[in-house]
Amino acid sequence: MARETDRIIDKPLFSRSAPAGRLTLFALLAFAVLFTSAPARCQLVPGSMDVHWNEGSSNCAKDPQPPLQEHQYNTRTYILRENLCTTFEAPFMYLLVGSTKALLIDSGDIADPNVVPLAETVMRLLPPDGAAKLPLLVVHTHRHLDHRAGDGQFARFSNAQVVGFDIDSVRSFYKFVDWPNGLAQVDLGDRTVDVIPTPGHSETEVSFYDRSTGLLFTGDFLMPARLLIDDASADVASAERVAAFVKDQPVSFVLGGHIEMNSAEELFAWESPYHPDEHVLQLTKDDVLKLPAAVRSFNGFYTVRGQFTMENTIRILIAFAVLILAAAVGVLWALIRYIRRRRRARKSAAQIQT
Ligand SMILES: [Zn+2]
Ligand SMILES: [Zn+2]
Repeated sequence: MARETDRIIDKPLFSRSAPAGRLTLFALLAFAVLFTSAPARCQLVPGSMDVHWNEGSSNCAKDPQPPLQEHQYNTRTYILRENLCTTFEAPFMYLLVGSTKALLIDSGDIADPNVVPLAETVMRLLPPDGAAKLPLLVVHTHRHLDHRAGDGQFARFSNAQVVGFDIDSVRSFYKFVDWPNGLAQVDLGDRTVDVIPTPGHSETEVSFYDRSTGLLFTGDFLMPARLLIDDASADVASAERVAAFVKDQPVSFVLGGHIEMNSAEELFAWESPYHPDEHVLQLTKDDVLKLPAAVRSFNGFYTVRGQFTMENTIRILIAFAVLILAAAVGVLWALIRYIRRRRRARKSAAQIQT
């Protein structure tokens, strides 16, 4: 005799003949489809951030460094970085390979291919496309020179197209009709990249979200470095826009344009070619969600909020210039008063003697 539990196990889960059984079968199939397809929709292609970035040197002349470091995140995603000894900016560049096209985000701070052979390196990493190489689209997070100086290196490659960096080129290439609102997409075949306007650091700034890996590329808008903010209200709106975008999206890592702090979140000296114990490149979705409140607290000159150090360099320089001018005027005024007093004192001394 089967035990009670055995009977429950032996009992068919559904009967093919009964209408109620058919309903149960349908419900189970629907559940199975939902259960198996839901995780697939947000299943990200994994990758590795297990990398130690070259930390430069306190004496670059005595300690020569390779000019460009490559890290393979996965089989179709590469992270490139120019060495701190080659340029203190040490910007990061990202290569995403799709089935019909590849995307290079930023071209770095060095124009000369003899110093940093960026285009040659990227072409080597690209898979073949028949007898040639896969078409390549070179785009920028924003117009600052340290993110586009290498553009010219791609001119001799017929498979490469470089997108303009000025605001009109950015708007028209991505077909933004209500900049900085809305989203655009770059289609790499089997890989779609969303383009999100993020002006504030620069009026041309955009961030990129790769749906296949969940990587969010934020340029100088968000990174483990000084956040230089030119337009605070635009930056608040951008921070809110990106936070709203990522809220319901899986984000594996947030990857910016530079690293300027150590693992204790202390900033390195400006223009330092040596970054010992450097902070990791990757930030998190949580950092993106914290950004709007941080930028709202920015006083327009210099504010530290949590791990975010926000600056407006131009305003700080103007404020210093005004302070120096005011101090100079004060000193001059005091000097004039002193001279006048001395003259008056001499005059009255002379009158007493006569
Ligand atoms: Zn910049
Ligand atoms: Zn930069």
